[in-house]
Amino acid sequence: MLLFTPGPTPVPESVRLAMAAPTLHHRTPEFETIFKETRELLFKLFHTDEIIMIASSGTGAMEAAVRNLCHDTLLSINSGKFGERFGKIAKASGLNNVEIKHEWNVPATVEEVVEVVKANPLVDAVAIQISESSGGLRHPVEEIAVAVKAINPSIMIIADGITAVGVEPIDTRNIDCLIAGSQKALMLPPGLAILGLSNAALEKMGEGKGYYLNLASEHKKQVRNTTAYTAATTLIIGLGTVLKEIEQKGGVKELYADTARRAEATGRALEALGLHIYPNRPAPSMTTIDDVDAKEIRNLLKSDFGVNVAGGQDHLKGKIFRINQMGFIEPYEMVAVVNAVELALDRLGRRAFDGTASRVFYEIYYALGCK
Ligand SMILES: *Cc1c(COP(=O)(O)O)cnc(C)c1O
Repeated sequence: MLLFTPGPTPVPESVRLAMAAPTLHHRTPEFETIFKETRELLFKLFHTDEIIMIASSGTGAMEAAVRNLCHDTLLSINSGKFGERFGKIAKASGLNNVEIKHEWNVPATVEEVVEVVKANPLVDAVAIQISESSGGLRHPVEEIAVAVKAINPSIMIIADGITAVGVEPIDTRNIDCLIAGSQKALMLPPGLAILGLSNAALEKMGEGKGYYLNLASEHKKQVRNTTAYTAATTLIIGLGTVLKEIEQKGGVKELYADTARRAEATGRALEALGLHIYPNRPAPSMTTIDDVDAKEIRNLLKSDFGVNVAGGQDHLKGKIFRINQMGFIEPYEMVAVVNAVELALDRLGRRAFDGTASRVFYEIYYALGCK
């Protein structure tokens, strides 16, 4: 079965092998060396002043960011489940929450964020997804960050990059906290989250908030290449291996370029079949199709053609399907996916199979530059 869900994503073989080594004790010079090396590689990916790794799923890092960086009112952007989650975290943390809500294919605009920030002077942090995985859309986070900082530079910008870090270039100059999670673009098993922080964020958090998710106490330890509590040693070894493999394959720029051309070629191939791309502004992390037969297509992909793609959640259950674009994916693997979609449409009597999807995919992918 080909795993093509936008998280979890397949773990490369070299990484699985590296993680098969016997467990290291975390308070040892051997592990501290690995931790240091991994931290250094992470700086090249994040371009932030500081980096903190915590043993948790992505949501733990979202909570850590909100608790430590918002002290009064959080403005969150809800164009899907993950944006909605920021609001729930704020409320569960005893903070005030103002929300901008949209349908899941509609990104936030700079203008509306500016308007809400100006109308709510107690907003001291803005939380937004770079890529909102619920519908696969890309919010204009960098532009929003510039506009918010122009109103009040002390407002913290928390950017959930769980399906963006390692997928596409992110301008972090106005971002105070950039979040990544192991099981999406970083091609690892679930359980590790990473936060890139600005110096302003470190200053604002002071002694930090909370206990396990206190980023100030973690920061004190991690600059010395250790962790406040037991490190997720195996996942950190895996992360170091992934980051080295990215470098060996031409570096992050090549990974971003390959992801972008694969996402473009997939979208064009599926459109050539008469399918429709769901988000108004798609992120390159995944290709999301809305279709009356979404449920049947997804079931056929799984039962008859050995391809596992994700469906939709909540009101989009059975209405969309989402194909992963994150990680190391060979063009022939994606051809297998678009070809299977074309076969499924033939099965459903929608369109006679003639090989259009794979032809268009290859034409666009290689026209955009060979690997
Ligand atoms: C998957 C995901 C999360 C949540 O991560 P968990 O690891 O499930 O806690 C948050 N934000 C985005 C954009 C995601 O794709």
